[in-house]
Amino acid sequence: MTDPIEPVVTFIDAHRQRFVDELVTWCKIPSISSDAAHPEEVRRSAEHLRAHLATLGATSTAILETKGHPAAYAEWKVDPALPTLLIYGHHDVQPIDPLPAWHSPPFDPQVREGRLYGRGVVDDKGQVLIHANAIEAFVRARGRVPINIKMLVEGEEEIGSVHLEDLMQREAARLTADYVVVSDTAMFGRGIPSLCVGLRGIAYFDVEVSAHEMDLHSGSFGGGVHNPALVLARMLAALHDENGHVTVEGFYEKVRTLTDAERAEIASLPFDERAWIAASGTHAAVGERGFTTLERLWTRPSLECNGLTAGWQGHGPKTVIPAFARAKVSCRLVPDQDPKEIAAQVEAHLAKLAPAGVKVTTHYIHGGRPYLAPTDHPVFEIAKRAFSRAFGKPTVFIREGGSIPFVRTIADVTGKPCLLMGFGQPDENAHAPNEWLDLENFHLGIKSAAFLYDELARTTHT
Ligand SMILES: [Zn+2]
Repeated sequence: MTDPIEPVVTFIDAHRQRFVDELVTWCKIPSISSDAAHPEEVRRSAEHLRAHLATLGATSTAILETKGHPAAYAEWKVDPALPTLLIYGHHDVQPIDPLPAWHSPPFDPQVREGRLYGRGVVDDKGQVLIHANAIEAFVRARGRVPINIKMLVEGEEEIGSVHLEDLMQREAARLTADYVVVSDTAMFGRGIPSLCVGLRGIAYFDVEVSAHEMDLHSGSFGGGVHNPALVLARMLAALHDENGHVTVEGFYEKVRTLTDAERAEIASLPFDERAWIAASGTHAAVGERGFTTLERLWTRPSLECNGLTAGWQGHGPKTVIPAFARAKVSCRLVPDQDPKEIAAQVEAHLAKLAPAGVKVTTHYIHGGRPYLAPTDHPVFEIAKRAFSRAFGKPTVFIREGGSIPFVRTIADVTGKPCLLMGFGQPDENAHAPNEWLDLENFHLGIKSAAFLYDELARTTHT
């Protein structure tokens, strides 16, 4: 007996080129969400997708309004006894500047050497269509999808998903699901199917040290008063010890200890530190003693100074002692650190470090909580299997040093673990000129999505 997935796979192979053509058509719409002058383009993009999904056997489709840009929504309700998968993606894109750096027009995607170049091809329109194409393959080859599917494609991801939580709360009844998959991340490397299971959070603040009402003459006052530039520099330098540990009291209190299994898993990844150093344009990998580079980036919190300013910075000399010095400071957080709690700890620590006679002001700007997927949930094994079936290689768990706040929002609102099944490449130029999509990956991605639905259909309803 033939495997019922076979006609689906055959359909995906047979329509490989058309799927690329359809992606090109959609990517011609310049849906830049940060471009306040052309909100109609983001709406046109949402409507284009909704209309496309409506032709793929969706039982209902809708444009979901927000206070900003709209989302496109579609669902395929086949059988209440079957599990329901919610797919998240976004149809808005990043701006295109600097335009001269593009080798082909950003909104007229072109294929070169197996890659499709254009804005949005991988972040995230290509990844949205990976799912739409897999759905189409089931509908055309088997008459229907093997599970219930809901697809939410928002239009504000590139501006921080500002209204996503509102939207999800309002539509909570519509968006209920057993599983959630997000396809908006990159794989560990070419051909390595990777599930991202951890994201760091962030806490960001301004720090100001002031000592005088105005800048003072460094001849009349030098050596006799505080210099805020030097005071702030000393305070910032004191935030790490010689082993690269953050000295802020309580900073590590809620950090989960890495298990031996987690460390072994990270160590097993084909990470080339030299290549990483070269690709970053830096000269050395440094950080907290006792941890590898990947462990530092993925599983340990960090504290960085993002900017520092004080006193005279123009051309030539100006002999002043600055009245104040300012720094931008941010921490990347790991489970179970809380951004507001960390901000309060840093604030208290800075106040303690400050000498008498200066004023320290700390202002919390924004924060986002870290995310760690419950990888013992059965859906992760299911996804691993699906991914490996398409790529013919074992699937690895990876994490991400950056923060994707909407993942926490989706996980919190749905109460389900978020499966981050991304099909991008680490060097795909997302957000930069010459964004590209690996067309082989696009094709295997469609198969991975099809296998995922197939595997989920075989599991019992949870
Ligand atoms: Zn994205």
